[in-house]
Amino acid sequence: MQLYTSQKLQVHNSLSGKKEVFTPLNEGHVGMYVCGPTVYSNVHLGNCRTFMSFDMIYRYLKHLGYKVRYVRNITDAGHLEDEGEQEDKISKKARLEQLEPMEVVQRYTVDFHQILEKFNFLPPSIEPTATGHIIEQIEIIKDILEKGYAYEMNGSVYFDVSKFNKKYTYGKLSGRKLEDMITNTRDLAAQDEKRNPQDFALWKKAEPQHIMRWPSPWGDGFPGWHLECTAMSTKYLGETFDIHGGGMDLKFPHHEAEIAQAEASYGHSPVRYWLHTNMLTLNGKKMAKSTGNNILPNEIFSGQNDILSKAYSPSAVRFFMMQAHYSSILDLSDDALAASEKGYLKLMEAMNQLADLPTGKTTDFDITSWKQECYKAMNDDFNTPVLIAQLFEAVRQTNLIHDSQASISQEDKEELIQSMSVFVYEILGLENNQDMGQDRDTLSGLVDLLIEIRNSARANKDFATSDKIRDDLANLGVQLKDGKEGTSFSIK
Ligand code: AMP
Ligand code: ZN
Repeated sequence: MQLYTSQKLQVHNSLSGKKEVFTPLNEGHVGMYVCGPTVYSNVHLGNCRTFMSFDMIYRYLKHLGYKVRYVRNITDAGHLEDEGEQEDKISKKARLEQLEPMEVVQRYTVDFHQILEKFNFLPPSIEPTATGHIIEQIEIIKDILEKGYAYEMNGSVYFDVSKFNKKYTYGKLSGRKLEDMITNTRDLAAQDEKRNPQDFALWKKAEPQHIMRWPSPWGDGFPGWHLECTAMSTKYLGETFDIHGGGMDLKFPHHEAEIAQAEASYGHSPVRYWLHTNMLTLNGKKMAKSTGNNILPNEIFSGQNDILSKAYSPSAVRFFMMQAHYSSILDLSDDALAASEKGYLKLMEAMNQLADLPTGKTTDFDITSWKQECYKAMNDDFNTPVLIAQLFEAVRQTNLIHDSQASISQEDKEELIQSMSVFVYEILGLENNQDMGQDRDTLSGLVDLLIEIRNSARANKDFATSDKIRDDLANLGVQLKDGKEGTSFSIK
């Protein structure tokens, strides 16, 4: 019997605006698609927050016993700076840096994977690239043209939003109305080859200087960004699948366009549950590549940045992210990270001490109901902050057991150790590699203290004590060296 039969998961569906009981299309199986990065620059911590939320969601679904097919794409073509532009982000970067576009793609895909590995992400089941699915995209465009919801113009193909809106509803995910959009953009219409400013490119003609180009029935060009996700999600998950995720900033126009494309082509909505993560902010503003208001993960791990007072480990940062619900705004600051690091270290210390809990008579700590509370938190739309509060409740209870010289039954102890490691390591994805920097600081502080005590022992001619300090430290692998400038030490 899999866990999902007894744990009733509820998720907040952005399409309905409500929490809904999660029932996958095919029992026991979950198909999940998450929009991946556009690989034209290093991923910043904001991007990582969104991917980390879905890593946690993937981990929990797997823990519940679902067979999850998790597809997270790599956008390596087609992402325009904005709808009116002729050049995509990767081509532009390649032109500016005088690189082959695929060199840009390779460099930042490798960076993305390295960062995610440091954060202890699970790899998705499939990581398709847009450039690997040009044929599939062309097929969908042909289909949408045939159904009358797109038109060709000078070698580009555009989705006809107004026509689509006559039969379907454009804007239902983001809560926008086409009439309002039209009123707001009337002035722009004249400058565009599109029939309406709301129309978006399915295929874009490549100007002669555009490096990334593929042949198509409409001439050389490149696919539209929104279409990539429709092509890749359909190919690997089908015309209808369970979960589609991404950051809230992608709701419009990207996800709205994905819904329209699928409805125009297949005649029905593609996604059963839309999940959107909220933004990581810095100085109260959205972290973004374009504005420069961002921090890179490696700048945090190394401490080389102008924003934070010290370096933080990947696990401390992961813990910081997990302390907020994925749908709340989270602001990054030195104080907030420092507080999270403290919490993380406290949790890890407790994890390390669980094995030493004295067993014998039982305490009041009811492990079964505590565990239910942990599941209740996760089943309530993946509420990690509430889960973490429950984990600290367990820490508090174990401290009580230690302090009161009480004990816990062997059975409860095993259950507690097992459950704690499931929630902490398997589901939250934390690693127990306490900040080595902090350990080193503590260690050198302690050795300096012993050197001081040894110096005063020598000054008092208490050579027995001074020799003992030197020899015992040597046995621990700490070598003292007396020099002109005082005593220094090295650690084996
Ligand atoms: P991009 O590479 O710009 O397409 O973004 C990749 C993912 O990161 C998308 O799902 C975005 O919604 C998400 N994202 C971008 N900025 C932030 C942010 N400040 N906080 C959280 N997620 C973000
Ligand atoms: Zn997408």
